[in-house]
Amino acid sequence: QGAGMHSVNPATGETFASYDTLSPEQIEERLSRAVVAFESYRLSSFEQRAAWMTRAAEVLEARAQELGELATREMGKTLAAAVAEVKKCASGCRYYAQNAEKFLADEGVVTEAERAYVTYQPLGVVLAVMPWNFPYWQVFRFIGPAIMAGNVGLLKHASNVPGCALAIESVMTEAGFPQGVFQTLLVGSKGVEAILKDDRVRAVSLTGSEGAGRSVAGTAGAAIKPAVMELGGSDPFIVMPSADLELSIKTAVTARTINNGQSCIAAKRFIVHADIYDRFVDGFVAGLAALKLGDPMLEDTDIGPLATPAIRDEVHGLVQDAVQKGAKVLLGGQVPAGQSQLAQGNYYPVTALSELTPEMEVYGEEVFGPVALIFRVADIEGAVKVANATRFGLASSVWTTDKAEQARFVRDIEAGSVFVNSMVASDPRLPFGGVKASGFGRELSRHGIHEFVNTKTVSIG
Ligand code: NDP
Repeated sequence: QGAGMHSVNPATGETFASYDTLSPEQIEERLSRAVVAFESYRLSSFEQRAAWMTRAAEVLEARAQELGELATREMGKTLAAAVAEVKKCASGCRYYAQNAEKFLADEGVVTEAERAYVTYQPLGVVLAVMPWNFPYWQVFRFIGPAIMAGNVGLLKHASNVPGCALAIESVMTEAGFPQGVFQTLLVGSKGVEAILKDDRVRAVSLTGSEGAGRSVAGTAGAAIKPAVMELGGSDPFIVMPSADLELSIKTAVTARTINNGQSCIAAKRFIVHADIYDRFVDGFVAGLAALKLGDPMLEDTDIGPLATPAIRDEVHGLVQDAVQKGAKVLLGGQVPAGQSQLAQGNYYPVTALSELTPEMEVYGEEVFGPVALIFRVADIEGAVKVANATRFGLASSVWTTDKAEQARFVRDIEAGSVFVNSMVASDPRLPFGGVKASGFGRELSRHGIHEFVNTKTVSIG
């Protein structure tokens, strides 16, 4: 394959579309267009923006099947999940269409001045660097708040989902947003630094790996530009003796394998109290074993292929390292081989490992595939200790009906969220983001829209 971007079906390895990446002149053209668009878009009313954003929701709903199929072919998530993702984007657009004006209303403050207030104004051109794992939702949860606040957006999407990237631009155009308000830039990751350093770009939002975060946050820091970093996670899922065991097992299976195991907020480390350990693990492993690995286009498939061969190799490398260092394989762990259809794509079997120790790479890394890591702990102290024994701090799920234990987890777990007796999920109404190496800043809710505005103080008289 030559230069440019390619859509490669992870289920078959077949390249089904190719695109030219942008030349420096084409990037310049789009940047200029964004600046021109901002000059008038920033003056548009909330009512007008909301009308366009609501129309974007309608376009997404009308095109859900088509966009879903495109995502499945480019990155391998099941078709049902892809269509559901497109519909979730529509609800995100509606949420900000309905709430942006309220979130950004002027706030009066009493001082010695005649009148003082805080007003929120857009920053200008905002760059979004986005990943392939939720190729629509990651982008629309940027679009909703950033664009409703009056900013204009430039999308540098992951190189393996160029079709989705262009489709998003087409949704925004079809919705009626003026030319230049939202543009896709087909550029590789090497092109990001120059774009972000350009004076016309005022801020950046990145969702992706820790490495990408270090690089982009570094550039943003050197250029003194605000940044939101939504990076990886190795989220704990803690089960205590009082938990509803059946529900916790069922949820654990979904929480680990959602999106073929490639979600930043997937539960990755299952930390189980010794009193219920055997029962939980038996049920959990049986639940994982019952999932069907196969063609993501088919209705009865639970788990499709991983997005790229590199991701699969990385996942398998972590599993092999753990096994060599003494981990116990309770399920899976072998790459499909031979002539089977699974061997043609980037399939990886659902895998469960126990007897894990800190010397193993999996102990500290984010495993971006359907691999569950299981830990036994003696008490709540041990549970909190293992939960926090990671440099990540994105989200967490804790299972206990004991109020004191719930309060303890809420207080002591180092993460951007704690979900009690339920699975972690992103919701437009709730802030989303992490601490430690999982990043900084928040997306969604009232908090998300306040990331890309100038909080302007006005004091009169
Ligand atoms: P990356 O973080 O590399 O990709 C995410 C986005 O960042 C892409 O648009 C990518 O562009 C861009 N990017 C990558 N490196 C840089 C850089 N140095 N400067 C500017 N932009 C950059 O994810 P991968 O696809 O490589 O996945 C690798 C691992 O990242 C996964 O195994 C997983 O652990 C983690 N990950 C976590 C996600 C999350 O939601 N938390 C999402 C995706 C990945 P390009 O595609 O052109 O390289």
